[in-house]
Amino acid sequence: MSLLKEKRAEFFAKKFSKLNGSYTPLPGGGTTKESAAGADGTKASDDGASALDNGADGTRAWDAAAEPGQKAGGEPAFAGQDMGDKSAEPSAVKDVYLIKCPKCGKMVDRDRAVKHKYICYECQGYFRVRVNNRIRMVADPHTFEPWFTDMPVRNPLAFEGYEEKLAEAREKTGLDEAVTVGKCKVFGEEIMLGICDARFMMASMGHTVGEKITAAIERAADERLPVFLFCCSGGARMQEGIISLMQMAKTSAAIRRLGDAGLLYCTILTDPTTGGVTASFAMLGDVIMAEPGALIGFAGPRVIKQTIGQELPEGFQTAEFLQEHGIIDGIVKRENLKKTLYFLIKAHQCREKQYADFTPGREFRFELNEIIKEQQWKEKPKNAWEKVKAVRRVERASALDYMEHIFDCFVEAHGDRSFRDDPAIVGGIGFLDGQPVTVIAEHKGKDIRECQERNYGMPMPEGYRKALRLMKQAEKFHRPIVSFINTSGAFCGIEAEERGQGEAIARNLLEMSALKVPVLCIFIGEGGSGGALATAVGNEVWMLENATYSILSPEGFASILWKDSSRAKEASEVMRITAQDLKQLHVVEKIIPEFGGADSKTAEAIGGCLKEQIKDFLQRYSGMSGEEIAAQRYERFRRF
Ligand SMILES: [Zn+2]
Repeated sequence: MSLLKEKRAEFFAKKFSKLNGSYTPLPGGGTTKESAAGADGTKASDDGASALDNGADGTRAWDAAAEPGQKAGGEPAFAGQDMGDKSAEPSAVKDVYLIKCPKCGKMVDRDRAVKHKYICYECQGYFRVRVNNRIRMVADPHTFEPWFTDMPVRNPLAFEGYEEKLAEAREKTGLDEAVTVGKCKVFGEEIMLGICDARFMMASMGHTVGEKITAAIERAADERLPVFLFCCSGGARMQEGIISLMQMAKTSAAIRRLGDAGLLYCTILTDPTTGGVTASFAMLGDVIMAEPGALIGFAGPRVIKQTIGQELPEGFQTAEFLQEHGIIDGIVKRENLKKTLYFLIKAHQCREKQYADFTPGREFRFELNEIIKEQQWKEKPKNAWEKVKAVRRVERASALDYMEHIFDCFVEAHGDRSFRDDPAIVGGIGFLDGQPVTVIAEHKGKDIRECQERNYGMPMPEGYRKALRLMKQAEKFHRPIVSFINTSGAFCGIEAEERGQGEAIARNLLEMSALKVPVLCIFIGEGGSGGALATAVGNEVWMLENATYSILSPEGFASILWKDSSRAKEASEVMRITAQDLKQLHVVEKIIPEFGGADSKTAEAIGGCLKEQIKDFLQRYSGMSGEEIAAQRYERFRRF
C-alpha cells in the first residue's frame, strides 16, 4: 500500500472519529477484490456482482451473469409440448434437423436450440426439459445418484386400465415415475435434487410421486442436505382418487419437518405447475423460483374461464404475473440456473453465533480519494431545514447505490406471498466479503418513471409484509439483517388502509423485537414516522450525517401544532430530527460521514465506510446467542 493511500485512510479514520467520538486505528492490508473467487474457483459470487448494475428491471437480480464452466450438452431431446418427441417432423436439409417451436410455431434448428439450453432462439420460448437434461443443466457431471427408483406399482382404487397406462408411460419415457429424486453436487456442494417430468402422465401426483418426494425429503433431513425441487404437474392423478389428494398433506408435512430441522427447501416452478402440486409442495419453498413464461396456477385457465364466463387477461397465471403478485421470489433464466442454485446453497450455510464468516484474505480497507476529500473540506455543515431539503432531493444516493459498494453480489427476492410485490421496498440476500446478509432497503427511485413505479419509496402493507417475510427467513437460517431506511412515511391511501397498513407496521415492530439474529438499521435519507420505524427495530441504529428521522414531516408538525404548515422550517429546528440530535437522545448509535453530501460522487466513499463499519458490527455480535441478541434489542428500546 502506498504512502498516499495510507494518508487517505488516516484522514478518513479521523473524520469518522470526530463524528462519533471514538478513534480506532485502521488495520493494515488492502482491498482484495481480485481474490474473490469461490472456494472451488467458480467465482460464483463475483459473477453476480453485476446484479445491481442492471437498472430497475424487476427480474435483474435473478439474471446475473452467465453461469461458470457450464456447457450446454446432452443429446438433442426435447420433452413434452410435442417437441422433438412425436410431432416434430424432421426434415434433413443440409444436416439441419428442423423442429416446430410450440411457442411461436416457427421451424427451428434443433441442435442450435439444444445448445441454447432448450430455448427457442426465435421467440425465446422455453421448451420443457426431460429429467436427464435438467440434471445436466444443474448438477456437476456424473454426480447425480438416484434414490427410490424401485417403488412398487400400486393401484389403490383398483382402477381399470391404470396399470397398463403406467406401464405405457414407463415404456415411453424410460422413467419409473413422474418424479426423479436423488442426490447430486452443484459446484461441489451436495444437495437433494428432485425433478418432475411432464412426459409421464403430465407429472400428475399419485401415491408413488408423493411417496418418492416425501421419502427423499426425510432422507435429506437425515443427511442434512438442502432440497431443490423442479416442479411441474397437471395436478392430481385421477386414477388414484382420494389417495392422490392425501399426497398433498403428506408431502407438506415432510416439508414442515425439513424446515423444523433448519434445512433449506427451494422450488423451481416450470411449465406447467398446476392443481394439487401448486397447492402443496410447489408453493412451500423457503425460496420459490420460476422459469420465464411458465404457466403456474391452482385452477387451470380453461376451468377458470368456464366458471366465470370471462376472458382472462393477457399474461394471466404466468411466472411474471406471479412475481408481480408477490407469490414467487423471482424468475430465473436457464443460463443462470446453476449459478442461482449455488448462490442459494451458500446463502443458507450460516451458523448461529457466526455472523462474521468473511472470506479469508479479503480484509477490506476503506480509502478516500483526493476529490472527495476536497469536496468534504468545502462543504459547510447544514442546519436542520437544509438537511430536510437535502434528503428529499432525487439525486441523493439510494440504498442500491451504497449496496453496490458494500456487497460482493446481491440477489433480490420479491413478494409477500399473498398479494403483491411492493417495489418501494427492495429485499434480498447479499454477500458481504463472503458473509451472507439479508438486506431490506426502501427505495424511492431515480427518475420520474421509477419514482412512480416505486411509489416514491412509500411502502404499502405488502411491502412491510415482504420485509417481515425475508427477516423471518433470515432468522430461520441464522443470517444477520441490514436494513436501509429512506422513506417519507408509509403510503397514505385507500388501498393501504384496506389491506391493514397499521397492522402491517405493528406486526413488524412486534416480530422484529424478537428476531434472534443481529439487526442493523441505517437511516440514509428521510426517516418518516411509523413507516420508517417499521423496518428500523435494530440492535443498533445508525444515520448518515445529513439524514433525518422524525415523528412526522416538519410540515405536518407545524400544521398540527401551530395550524400553519408554512412554519415547517421553524418546526424542523425544534423537532430534533438530525443525526446529531438523535445521537444525543440515544435514538441512534453511530453517525456515518457523507463527505460533502450523499450523491453519485460520494456513494462509493460512503459505501466503503459503511462496509467497514458493518463488518465491524457483525464481528461484535458474533459469539452472541440468538436469545442474547434479542434480549439486547429488547433492552435497547425498553430504555425509551
Ligand atoms: Zn419459438
